[in-house]
Formats: sequence, structure tokens, C-alpha cells
Amino acid sequence: MSVNTTSFRDSVDRMFTHAAGLMSLAPGLEEKIRVCNSTYTVRFGVRLRGSIHTFTGYRSVHSEHMEPVKGGIRYSLDVNQDEVEALAALMTYKCALVEVPFGGSKGGLCIDPRAWNEDELERITRRFTYELSRRNLISPSQNVPAPDMGTGEREMAWMADAYKRLHPDDINAKACVTGKPRTAGGIDGRVEATGRGVQYALREFFRHDDVMTKAGLTGTLAGKRVVVQGLGNVGYHAAQFLSAEDQCLVTCVIERDGVIRNPQGINIDALRGHIRATGGVKGFIGGDFTEDGLRALEDECDILIPAAVESVIDAENAGRIRCKLIIEAANGPVTADGDEILREKGIVVIPDMYANAGGVTVSYFEWVKNLSQISLGRLERRHEEARARMIVEELERLSADTGLNWTLSKGFKESFLTGADELELVRSGLDDTMRTSFQKMKEVWTANPKVRDMRTAAYVVAIRRISNVYNSLGL
Ligand code: GLU
Repeated sequence: MSVNTTSFRDSVDRMFTHAAGLMSLAPGLEEKIRVCNSTYTVRFGVRLRGSIHTFTGYRSVHSEHMEPVKGGIRYSLDVNQDEVEALAALMTYKCALVEVPFGGSKGGLCIDPRAWNEDELERITRRFTYELSRRNLISPSQNVPAPDMGTGEREMAWMADAYKRLHPDDINAKACVTGKPRTAGGIDGRVEATGRGVQYALREFFRHDDVMTKAGLTGTLAGKRVVVQGLGNVGYHAAQFLSAEDQCLVTCVIERDGVIRNPQGINIDALRGHIRATGGVKGFIGGDFTEDGLRALEDECDILIPAAVESVIDAENAGRIRCKLIIEAANGPVTADGDEILREKGIVVIPDMYANAGGVTVSYFEWVKNLSQISLGRLERRHEEARARMIVEELERLSADTGLNWTLSKGFKESFLTGADELELVRSGLDDTMRTSFQKMKEVWTANPKVRDMRTAAYVVAIRRISNVYNSLGL
């Protein structure tokens, strides 16, 4: 990778500005939508191992056109203000694109989570939650965090518990954060939701011959060669589902300590087991190990899935990428400069704000479940059917009032009313969301020759929806 000339935030803004330029927005509205409303920086101390350690955390609120605002909290030493602001902006566009009724936010803590033990992480997380709570940056009705890189169910459970202790009278306390374990009010299928969404997105892509042709692809997912960067929560689930259920061949996995290649297809579960046991991919017997790291992004394949961090494909290496299709499971893996080069080469990119929206989509289901305090399981269903109907009707009334289609998706609603079990319900709602959003993006992409790619189409759809909200708010 070269030294990036534009920051992550500039890159997102450039893509946004290009799309907004194709639309006739009311004067000043483009800027209002683009800018980040606020970013809170906090430094707090925690006494650990005999001395006080100071941590720096952020929570950025990009757009409050819908509340609560939503987005994950990342634990990584690379966290910085530019990054959380770019990620918060992507959350705004992502939520609008997949029609979940949230504004965009994102948080981060500068920490290497592997450097601390579980007890220490819990104390740090509880203290961070306290700082966020003091400024309403965690709240069921205003700001609802979720997992992101370096965090998961465990951290969300600590946050939910810390919030509840601080707000004992809040009957909606459970909805202050999503991605919680099932036992703490979480929903089935949330852990794998982002990876599942990547799979559903690809399945939908492969139902459209015309877009497949643009990428030079034919046939089905079966037998397609896939390169995955990052076997974290998102990359692992995407790779696992695609290989086990769609017969893709994952020919290469790029991880922190090196690369595993196997042209016959890597056994993803076995590789994950090896990483868990040894801390890396080195020594895995189901493929060949090299240390060439990001170079492997340039391996020849059908589908490249960057599922780690931002800006891994930029002006320096984009020219050497040899896949047909990129699906951005990570947020912002392709820079604005990289994107232009890929487009010139005819590589189709399924953009992040759509590709990884499975996480926030299922977070929405979890949030609704927590607010309505309803159990979505089959057993309880009989007693709660009337209540389920009431919730659906209430959401429909709300959408009709605002003239927007922000309601439970069709599949979710149907399964909700017919009493499917929770996992079935989550899957059908997610599938429905991924299909509908893809079709909307495709419609905009193919109808207007100025819409140069799927990313621009995604921005156009998102910006249009956000501007409708601003217009109805009277701003
Ligand atoms: N961190 C995830 C994302 O980037 C999930 C956010 C959420 O569920 O609120 O989309």
C-alpha cells in the first residue's frame, strides 16, 4: 500500500459528493447531509495493574435526521477521529439504503483488546459506557451502539448492564445497545448477520444476468473462486456460508500473519479452529502458507471479499487487482482513487453500505424486539399474536404519517405475524432487505447512464431518502 493521499473521511466525502452532484438537491442540503454533526472525544483513566491507564475514546454522530442514531463501537489501536467520522457517515447512508429508521453514528476506543485480560476489558468497557451515557451517547431512543472490529457480544452485554445500572428506571434499557448475547436480550442470528448479509447479497447479484455480464461472470456461485481478507466475525461467516452452502471455492485467505492458499478450496472451519488454537494461519495443513500479506489481494479469482479494515485497495495496488467482482464486507476497503482505477478496469464493486448492511438490519430487529419487550419464539407466539399485530400496525401507521417506507420489511412482517421462530424470522427479514435494496440500487444504476457504478447508485438512493426526511422535517 502507498501512503494514502486522501484520508478515509475525504474518500467517503468524495464518493458522496460525486453522487450528490447528479441530483438536484435543495440549496445547502448537500452540505447538511454530508457533514458530521458532532464528535465527542473522551479521555478517561482506569486503575489497572497498579497504575492509572488513560484511554481515548470517540463517539461520532453523523446525522440525526432519524433517531436513535446507530453504529458500532470499535476497539483498535488505529481508531482515530477521522476514522470514526467516516464510519459514522457510512452508517447514515447504510441505514437509509436498507431502510432501517436510524441516523448514523460510530464509536471507537484506542486500545489493543488483546493486551488486556477479560476482567480488565470489562472495567474499561464499563467506564467507557459511563462516559458515553453522561452525554446521551448511549440511549435506547437516542444512540444505540453495536459490535464492530474488536468488540462482540461480551462487550455489548457489559455495556447493556452498565447502562441499566445507571438508568434503573428506563423500561427500555435493554434496547440501549444491540448485538447482545441471547441471554441478555439479543436476537438469534445477529452474530453471523453481517456475513449472512454478504452471502445474500451475492446470491441476489447472481440472480441478475445483466449485472453479472458487467462483471464478466456467468453461471452460479458454485465453483467460483473466492479470496477473503480477514477471518474475523464478518469474513469468517461470509467465507463459511459461501463455501459450505453455495459451493464456492475459497482459494485464499489473507490474515494478519500471512496467507493460506489452496486452489481446491480451503476448509474454513478447520482454518478458524487453527487460528483459535495458534493465533494465526501459519502451520495450517489445509493449504500453502506464505508471508506475502496484502499482495494476495492481487491473486486471480472471481470474487474478492475484503473483510478487514479500510483503505486496503488504493491507487497503488488497484491496477494489479485481478478479480471480477469485489464485495466490500469491510467498511471503506477501497479508496476513492482505487475505486476509479477498478472501474476503468471493468471490475464491479458491490459497495460497503449495501454489502455489510446485514449487521445493522438485524440490529434493528433486535432493537424492535427489546422495545416491544416481545419474545419472538414460536412458543410464546400464540399469546402474543395480538401484540405482534399491534406493533406491525403501529409501524405502518408511522410510515404512512411520514410518507416513508420505513417499516418492517415484507418478509420479516409476514414471518412475524405467522409465528415463525426467531432465527427463521431474522433470516427471512434479512434476505428480503438484501434483495429489495439490491433491486433498488440496480434500478438506479441501470436507468441513468450518469450513475457510473453500483456505489454511486447506492449513494443516490440513500441521499434521496435522507433528503426526503429533511424535507418533511421542514429544514
Ligand atoms: N458495526 C456494524 C456496521 O458497521 C453494525 C452496526 C449496528 O449494528 O448498529 O454496520
